[in-house]
Amino acid sequence: VKYVYFFGADKTEGGGQLRNLLGGKGANLAEMTAIGLPVPAGFTLTTELCTEFYRNDRRYPDGVREEVAENLRSLEMAMDKRFGDPANPLLLSVRSGSRVSMPGMMDTVLNLGLNDTTVQGLIDQSNDARFAYDSYRRFIQMYANVVLGMDGEVLEHILENMKETRGVDLDTELTADDLKQLVTLFKTKVKDTLGHDFPDDPEEQLWGAINAVFGSWMNPRAVTYRKLNSIPADWGTAVNVQAMVFGNMGNDCATGVAFTRNPSTGENYFFGEFLLNAQGEDVVAGIRTPQPIDKGSSDGQLPSLEEVMPECYQQLLDIRDLLEKHYRDMQDIEFTIENHKLYMLQTRGGKRTASAAVKIAVDMEKEGLIDKKEAVLRVAPEQLDQLLHPSLDPNACKEIIATGLPASPGAASGEIVFSAEDAENAAKLGLKVILVRIETSPEDIHGMNAAQGILTARGGMTSHAAVVARGMGKCCVAGCGSIKVDYKAQQFTTASGDVFKKGDVITLDGSTGEVMKGSVDTVQPSLTGDFGKLMEWVDQYRRLRVRTNADTPNDAAVARDFGAEGIGLCRTEHMFFEGDRIMAVREMILSEDVEGRKQALAKILPMQKGDFLGLFREMKGLPVTIRLLDPPLHEFLPHTDKELEELADVMKVPAKTLKHKVEYLHEFNPMLGHRGCRLGVTYPEIYDMQVQAIMEAACELIAEEGYEIVPEIMIPLVGHVAELKLLRARAIRTADEVISRYAAEVKYLIGTMIELPRAALTADEIACEAEFFSFGTNDLTQTTFGLSRDDAGKFLPSYVQREILPNDPFVTLDQDGVGQLVRIGCEKGRKSRPDIKLGICGEHGGDPSSVIFCHNAGLNYVSCSPYRVPIARLAAAHAAL
Ligand code: ADP
Ligand code: MG
Ligand code: MG
Repeated sequence: VKYVYFFGADKTEGGGQLRNLLGGKGANLAEMTAIGLPVPAGFTLTTELCTEFYRNDRRYPDGVREEVAENLRSLEMAMDKRFGDPANPLLLSVRSGSRVSMPGMMDTVLNLGLNDTTVQGLIDQSNDARFAYDSYRRFIQMYANVVLGMDGEVLEHILENMKETRGVDLDTELTADDLKQLVTLFKTKVKDTLGHDFPDDPEEQLWGAINAVFGSWMNPRAVTYRKLNSIPADWGTAVNVQAMVFGNMGNDCATGVAFTRNPSTGENYFFGEFLLNAQGEDVVAGIRTPQPIDKGSSDGQLPSLEEVMPECYQQLLDIRDLLEKHYRDMQDIEFTIENHKLYMLQTRGGKRTASAAVKIAVDMEKEGLIDKKEAVLRVAPEQLDQLLHPSLDPNACKEIIATGLPASPGAASGEIVFSAEDAENAAKLGLKVILVRIETSPEDIHGMNAAQGILTARGGMTSHAAVVARGMGKCCVAGCGSIKVDYKAQQFTTASGDVFKKGDVITLDGSTGEVMKGSVDTVQPSLTGDFGKLMEWVDQYRRLRVRTNADTPNDAAVARDFGAEGIGLCRTEHMFFEGDRIMAVREMILSEDVEGRKQALAKILPMQKGDFLGLFREMKGLPVTIRLLDPPLHEFLPHTDKELEELADVMKVPAKTLKHKVEYLHEFNPMLGHRGCRLGVTYPEIYDMQVQAIMEAACELIAEEGYEIVPEIMIPLVGHVAELKLLRARAIRTADEVISRYAAEVKYLIGTMIELPRAALTADEIACEAEFFSFGTNDLTQTTFGLSRDDAGKFLPSYVQREILPNDPFVTLDQDGVGQLVRIGCEKGRKSRPDIKLGICGEHGGDPSSVIFCHNAGLNYVSCSPYRVPIARLAAAHAAL
């Protein structure tokens, strides 16, 4: 087996297609080399080697050392330098890189191969002792932290002290002697801390770094990130060993990062930052304020690369074009300039916000880089969620306390916390928080995930906080330098001297960078423009229809704006709680006899009819499925003595009698109790009233408006065909009576929910009595797992965390179990009634992977909450493409 792949001008063994084997970084380094871009040569140890390494108890297979040595020789030839050579040393960078980019999973070690001998060679070669010792001290810092596992703060502290004693602010102001002295101080500290010398042997350094990269695959940060992003542990990481180029050799050198388009808004201009005389992570870590690449995007404070190094800028601009044409996607690149010579160090598909994703997809179609299908596939359904939520009301009054960089758009309000732990704990209590940090690091990911928004005092648009927040779709304001964060006092101070403490509420606007006092009003998003265009394409490709779950005309209107093509579930019980209707409902439930119930129902009838009129009107002839009363009656019972007494008054019965009745209606396991069609069987007058209200509303509207309305009457919780047979006959009688009374011509359908395993298993029988099925996957999940949704909160999260279950089955459909029942239900239903309409109305109707399942199972439609309608539409298109 080949475990090492070389890349260099004369020989490149890998390429973009080997992403799984070489990791994203390695594959792209090879690809860039192959298309002629200036990439320092190097070689990649494969992800397969990582997997072997763990399979063999952290040992390498035979022959790997020889393979690495051979590639190192090729590299020495390519660079005309020798690793460990006292006169002409080759220095290396050792970089991790898995299949998908994992920000901050593993830190890179730069300048590897330096020791007290080789540093002399570097001085002689470069004629620059300051540069050589700067590289050396950086190497020790990185190696001690990443490979030897020392706390990074320890050496950083020594560096800070040195700057203080020399009276300088920036490390670029330290002299060669200062840096040389630092090297000695660092080495002593390493020995004191770890009890052994810093390794001088380049060979030992190299293998130490390789081991550390492979080892980092299992470190807790990486494990957390993988879990959050569902990345399998057996993918492994690759290791890239590459010749160093130097951005820290003086002011004709630089290092930078850039996106080929703006990753926040998607605008088509070169978006990036660089630092002169700097190396590696300096830009991202925010040790100095970076300068813009493009003159156009400069605020005029600091000169752009375009102005400082016009030739390099032009070359970079050409590379930007070439990369976008080659990869047909927006790229995130890293580069270094050594003595005016440009080197490319990385390219990858750039992370972007939802609105940027939409704009870039639509623009690239226009530019001819991709076709419409590709454009649709470029936007992840889940990501749309970001676009569908409110942003700050431009007319709201707001008190701006500071302004930072608009690092990741959206609006968020919450209480201030200063640590990831506090953010996580507060979120567990259901509190909304804003995580405020001087800067964030990969250790903070769990806290960023828990917070509504992130505010940092330091760091640019490409800082850790900005990149991670954009990936998460979280609002972030970064580099807000005017606030002084004091972790100890748990507070920050604004430029005007106002103090904000932990627990105070602030609002962030990630689109403008503004930080505001208190919580600020928001407005609904606009769904036109690029978004509208993309959704047009989406609708061309999908087969699955998308309906919404809506109980009120208002919900229905929102959903129609989002593109809903009907109502898949109207829960009539919600109407029973409206205003003071509950009194009449309680009267009905607690009546002694049929007559009493009918009297109470007569009060409810006109209100229900009004509800249905509103819904039908809003849906203008689109299909509307109305579910007859479903929940156990006890949910409607009076809770307090006061409510009970009021009711007794209205009903003119003693409170005591009512109390008995309430106690009698109490159920031990109401979800499996007297609910759904069982109510229809024992209290038929309830369903009679509802069917009457539905049909009267339909008849009146048809006469009035002239469009067709075909109400779909849905009977819940059927387990046996006999229940449905009985209730259907009765509903038909009622409906036909209304129709003939109005002398109208109205069609209607009667169908059922499939939400009990027995119903799915006998769907062929049930279909004889049902013109449509709607899979109620919330209850079906409950009844298949024997898992109470209302009680699962106590143990289900730990099931997911310990990977006993892959997902929360109430969020993502359990395709193997519950999904099997859905498939059986579809198959058997269609067998008895080939034209039966099939839909799903559980929460799963808006979950992208479940939508794809529904497409494959051959359902006609999914129904989901209004805000998830566009997500379901896009997922349905992905399923069809
Ligand atoms: P990450 O995966 O965190 O982006 P990288 O492996 O890209 O880590 O390394 C981080 C930075 O280190 C790069 O952006 C670049 O500035 C610097 N770097 C990496 N390899 C080299 C190299 N061969 N020469 C000079 N700088 C390098
Ligand atoms: Mg890094
Ligand atoms: Mg990188």
